[in-house]
Amino acid sequence: METAVIHGSYDTKEHLGSLTVPIFQTSTFTFDSAEQGEKCFSGEEEGYIYSRLGNPTVQVLADKIAELEEAEAGLAFGSGMAAVSAVLMSLTKSGDHILCSQGVYGCTFGLLTFMREKYHITHDFIAMETEEEIERHLRKETACIYVETPINPTMKLIDLERVANVAKNRGIPVIVDNTFSSPYLQKPLALGCDIVIHSATKYIGGHGDVIGGLAAGGRETMKRIAKTTLKDVGGVMSPFDAWLLLRGLKTLPIRMDRHCENAIYMMEKLKAHPAVKQVFYPGDQEGNDYTTMKKQMRKGGGLLSFEVHGSKAQAQQLLNQLSFIKIAVSLGDAETLIQHPATMTHSAVPEQKRQEMGISDQLVRLSVGLEAKEDIWNDLKQALDQLQ
Ligand SMILES: *Cc1c(COP(=O)(O)O)cnc(C)c1O
Repeated sequence: METAVIHGSYDTKEHLGSLTVPIFQTSTFTFDSAEQGEKCFSGEEEGYIYSRLGNPTVQVLADKIAELEEAEAGLAFGSGMAAVSAVLMSLTKSGDHILCSQGVYGCTFGLLTFMREKYHITHDFIAMETEEEIERHLRKETACIYVETPINPTMKLIDLERVANVAKNRGIPVIVDNTFSSPYLQKPLALGCDIVIHSATKYIGGHGDVIGGLAAGGRETMKRIAKTTLKDVGGVMSPFDAWLLLRGLKTLPIRMDRHCENAIYMMEKLKAHPAVKQVFYPGDQEGNDYTTMKKQMRKGGGLLSFEVHGSKAQAQQLLNQLSFIKIAVSLGDAETLIQHPATMTHSAVPEQKRQEMGISDQLVRLSVGLEAKEDIWNDLKQALDQLQ
């Protein structure tokens, strides 16, 4: 993988020896003749036509995510949500049902609500803790299963092999939002799932300077999405953003190793601090999901969440007292970022539902960055010390 992120899906010889992928900053492509144009449109001849239908820079990134996720084909989108919406809209029609993991990204929750109200595509959220439970919630109208693991922001895991087993028997595709793990830590297709989605904005880009989305899966499915909900709905990625993401990808493995190393250190320190009530991290040996983590992830990841003693006031006070750790949503950047889910990423979720999901007012989420771990901890510690 360390080699594939650097050399995969790109041949310098095809591009005048250019070491890095050239940015094809063009909206359209010229034809040699009217007849060649006709052949490109009919599919008789391969060739670029117009950048919403395909662009060479974007294509390298799409091929690369397919290679990294062990998929037949990949696609790039203008944002993670463009990828989520294109995949879900392509796989469903009016009257269908989507079975979802308990807890999905806020805007995915919004999209599902919108699809139910406008297109009569219903959904259920379930814990997916046993095969029997998943089976019980499948209907004849269930068009796909949609899973996030680790779940944001509680860091609970779902056993992907378990979900894939049930789905295989029924021929239902399983979609996994793999944003929190990146292909370096988790490969859902190798575990039997069918489609992987990424908000490339996060770990894949890794530098907080681009919004983008990716999907990977079977060739026919990807082709269908490319020709309908990507091309005709139009949420495409720009060549420059693809280039930034290709640049970010080269360091994905070494960044992820460091994110994980720093996150484990924070988990240990946080667990021992008297102002902290509880820490949630998939790589915690004492946690509920450690066995599942070992089974399907290389390491525990760079995100953790924790509850402070007290109430919302203490959680907000903690954020306000930090020095270099930044208060921001998003994740996977070089900078350590902290946010308060109840009033930020999950503020649109009704209070009652939030409680069910385990998102208390004292919960904060930390995206552990690449800074020296002692410095990150010292900043957290001085802010926590003031809470007592
Ligand atoms: C950020 C995020 C998204 C949405 O991605 P954008 O690039 O912001 O559109 C989807 N899923 C998860 C898990 C995310 O963290």
